[in-house]
Amino acid sequence: MRIILRLIIFVRSRWAWLAGAFVCLALSTGFALIIPRMLGTGIDTALRVESGFLWWSLPRETAIMLVAGTVIVASSLRGAADYGRTYLSQTVSQKVSYDIRNAFYERLQRLSFAYHDHAQTGQLMSRATVDVEAIRMFFAMGIIGLLELAILLVAITAILLTLNWQLALMTFLFMPAIGWRAITFSSRLRPIWLRIQELMAALGTILEESLTGIRVVKVFTRQKHEGQKFADQATLLYNEHIGVARQMAINMPLMLLLMSMPTVLILWYGGRQVINGVMTIGDLTTFILYLGMMVMPVRRLGMIGNLLSRTQSAGQRILEILDTESAVKEKPDAIELGKVEGRVSLEKVSFAYDSMSPTLDNISFDVKPGALVALLGGSGSGKSTIANLIPRFYDVTAGAIKIDGIDIRDVTLASLRQNVGIAQQDIFLFSGTIRDNIAYGAVSANADQVEAVAKAAYLHEYIIGLPEGYETWVGERGLTLSGGEKQRLSIARTLLINPSILILDDSTSSVDAETEHLIRQALSLLIKGRTTFIITHRLPIIKNADLILMLDKGRVIEMGNHDELMSNEGVYHQIYQSQLVTSDDSQ
Ligand code: ADP
Repeated sequence: MRIILRLIIFVRSRWAWLAGAFVCLALSTGFALIIPRMLGTGIDTALRVESGFLWWSLPRETAIMLVAGTVIVASSLRGAADYGRTYLSQTVSQKVSYDIRNAFYERLQRLSFAYHDHAQTGQLMSRATVDVEAIRMFFAMGIIGLLELAILLVAITAILLTLNWQLALMTFLFMPAIGWRAITFSSRLRPIWLRIQELMAALGTILEESLTGIRVVKVFTRQKHEGQKFADQATLLYNEHIGVARQMAINMPLMLLLMSMPTVLILWYGGRQVINGVMTIGDLTTFILYLGMMVMPVRRLGMIGNLLSRTQSAGQRILEILDTESAVKEKPDAIELGKVEGRVSLEKVSFAYDSMSPTLDNISFDVKPGALVALLGGSGSGKSTIANLIPRFYDVTAGAIKIDGIDIRDVTLASLRQNVGIAQQDIFLFSGTIRDNIAYGAVSANADQVEAVAKAAYLHEYIIGLPEGYETWVGERGLTLSGGEKQRLSIARTLLINPSILILDDSTSSVDAETEHLIRQALSLLIKGRTTFIITHRLPIIKNADLILMLDKGRVIEMGNHDELMSNEGVYHQIYQSQLVTSDDSQ
């Protein structure tokens, strides 16, 4: 119940709509309650029985016309109120799912890399779709259904008691049994629904993995294995659904049987009262009609219970995400960084992705504005980790990182990231035009600016050679760019943001000589005037670096410029010599 309450509080901005739906519901139920009474009165009037109503003394034909007219008016008003109720409750449910989905998405966007390292995409997708839909259903039908049930139960109980209290008490004997059955039924289904939701999410994960990894699947001819994995999961889901269907199939006739009991009792006892003249036929009919009105909502108790339990498990899964705090938090009094000069200092920085072992160990260095820093070291030595710490994708475990002397934990994340540009080698292209992709980080850039950076990144010629130039569609189902083109697009993207600090991942370049030349030209332009951290194997760039950091197992083992490190005759010297030999060999 706590989860349901939290969901209701969460959507408080939509309460006005919900209140409107409640008012329409109350009106529609009120009008509906008039109808059985009128029908009973009509029968009594036709049979010349004193009905106690105002018009019983009128001529019978007139009285019956009046009764019929009242039924028509009440039915029409009820219809109008029902329209309002359905429209408002559906609208509120759509608005609620819109709110929840957006909050969910925004939270996912805000969560740090540490969260996304462990999260499964399929799981998150299923939460954003299946679980949000379950919550929407609750707001569309669950809440209203519960209220309708409450109003009808109270109103009809009162009416039946005033009509004939002995008969009423007899029928009420069955109500606890029906209610109990509905509630136990839904509590039996709750764990099954939770399992179904989890299985759906797991199925989504398998699908997502095999689709994104389709090339690997085909290369290793593992289609059969992947197909089996999917089929196994689908079988589990199928079995659970069949389980639910079986439970429902048993429940339905059982409920119907329970519901018919009071009607039989009324016919038996009420019939005798009519024969003895204690009750009129009209009153007996009214009684049976009112009881009939109660049948549907009480029967729906099971469905509402079902909805409640689905909402509870779906709500739990959604709130779990909404409650997750990002490991990288912005201070409440964080300041705007503004445009920085670009001095970057790491002061005794240590970092660990998990509690097992440190990835970076006590690293300190100071980089002057505009300097070029080359990060060298074997695979896994911590180069990318340093690159990830500067824009605060992760927080340092100990020590501090300062930009222009300000601890990066004291500034807003947005202002920090506006100052730190990252150009990756294999970038992600969003579905859109090539222009949109270049302007991804600077949506307000105009056509001239986009073209200028494309020219600077040596990409312009290539783009205008495309059939639709800058409007060519790339990304999923669009044009595929080569590795070199992607890298230049990434350079153009970063140039447009014009950051003071730049992080370049250029570690796995394997392109032809001409592309290599273009990339090197584009890079040298990009680097100019910015503090740059580059992970690269390109010797000319490394030689030019103001600071070379040689990393090994998360420690800086050598630090200095090319000449200093060469005269040291340490690891850098060795690598430089061997690389020169290799590049000489290849020429
Ligand atoms: P490099 O860029 O020098 O190849 P990394 O900085 O990527 O090295 O990695 C340093 C160490 O941290 C490696 O042992 C790697 O396995 C580990 N590591 C990298 N990224 C993560 C991550 N997201 N979660 C846990 N461990 C990671």
